Amino acid sequence: MKKVKRLGFVGWRGMVGSVLLGRMQEEGDLDYVEELVLYSTSQAGQPGPELANTQPLLADAMDLDSLSTLDVIISCQGGDYTQKVYAPLRDMGWQGYWLDAASTLRMNNSSTIILDPLNQSIIKENLANGQRDFIGGNCTVSLMLMALHGLFKENLVEWITAMTYQAISGGGAQQMRELLIQMGEIHEHATPLLRLQESSILDIDSRINEYLNSDALTTGTIGYPLANNLLPWIDIDLDNGTSREEWKGHAETNKILGREDNPIPIESTCVRVGTFRCHSQAFTIALSQDVGVDDLTDIIEQANQWVKVIPNNRQNTLQSLTPVAVSGSMDIAVGKIRKTAFNSKIMTIFTVGDQLLWGAAEPLRRMLGILAERS
Ligand code: NAP
Repeated sequence: MKKVKRLGFVGWRGMVGSVLLGRMQEEGDLDYVEELVLYSTSQAGQPGPELANTQPLLADAMDLDSLSTLDVIISCQGGDYTQKVYAPLRDMGWQGYWLDAASTLRMNNSSTIILDPLNQSIIKENLANGQRDFIGGNCTVSLMLMALHGLFKENLVEWITAMTYQAISGGGAQQMRELLIQMGEIHEHATPLLRLQESSILDIDSRINEYLNSDALTTGTIGYPLANNLLPWIDIDLDNGTSREEWKGHAETNKILGREDNPIPIESTCVRVGTFRCHSQAFTIALSQDVGVDDLTDIIEQANQWVKVIPNNRQNTLQSLTPVAVSGSMDIAVGKIRKTAFNSKIMTIFTVGDQLLWGAAEPLRRMLGILAERS
């Protein structure tokens, strides 16, 4: 088996990083790494986890001399870190491969957005042309592409609108905790009335709503109530009525597919909801040809091994096409495949995927495998 010589991993303690390290262990990826160096911005010098071929003490993630000895760096540390370290490291003449979960470098001409089940040929071509920056895509975009892979492959997509229902883990570990705290506070606040059999549900509702609108609720880094609520704005304001998250749907998808010169129009409305790990999305898709639902289902199902089509009926949908059913699994659940009543070339689809797996960690893990094959 081919090997990666010296791999540095920054951000392995974080949410995406720990899911990635877990997947690397599950899949035996460390067998093809000759030496792994785990870095930290806050715990350098302390003992790290005991792993095969791994230095026992954590290295300093800000030490450019140390980073410059690596053949490959994986960063799941966040955009601020990339901003601080990447350019000075390249300026020192470092020629290694930079794999990153953060969005900082994604749209650079010198970066490839990686989602190899869809764009392995682009990845390999760019590698052959000497590219060295391979960046994971936005979670929602990667999950959409995995779900609709077959339709893109068959060139069936004219345009898409995406309505997203995005999990709080996309906001980081702290926001997951805050959501739970909000849920607990709401329950605690309603408990006296809940215990009274004769209490009116409208009294409970108004008590909760008053609490959610008061300063007493813990909003923390989420900034707003999310429990019993939803937040139709994710990422920064582009000052044109759209959020940066919505912009990514069109921009990143077309870059991943290598269609920047002939883009597929994609419009998104991105919404944060109170789920933990899974992003759900409802698509309306204009097809380039009037293909029947059975054929569309086959095309979607056969595109890759992770798509799992859920039969379009009430029981299967409620059982299997939900964040609760999909959380922690590599499956990309796809269902509610149907044509609209107003135009048989316009279809709808609903999909659910774990945004920490295919949405973040898995494309990076698989890129390391592609690099190992080459070295
Ligand atoms: P995170 O959980 O906040 O972790 C980032 C770093 O925070 C860790 O590597 C660790 O670095 C430090 N840290 C401080 N206290 C910690 C604690 N108690 N437990 C664990 N780590 C702690 O970040 P993330 O959500 O994984 O996101 C990392 C990057 O991936 C971001 O750029 C993000 O945009 C991108 N991304 C995230 C998602 C997602 O679902 N969250 C999806 C796609 C892409 P030190 O060891 O150096 O202290």
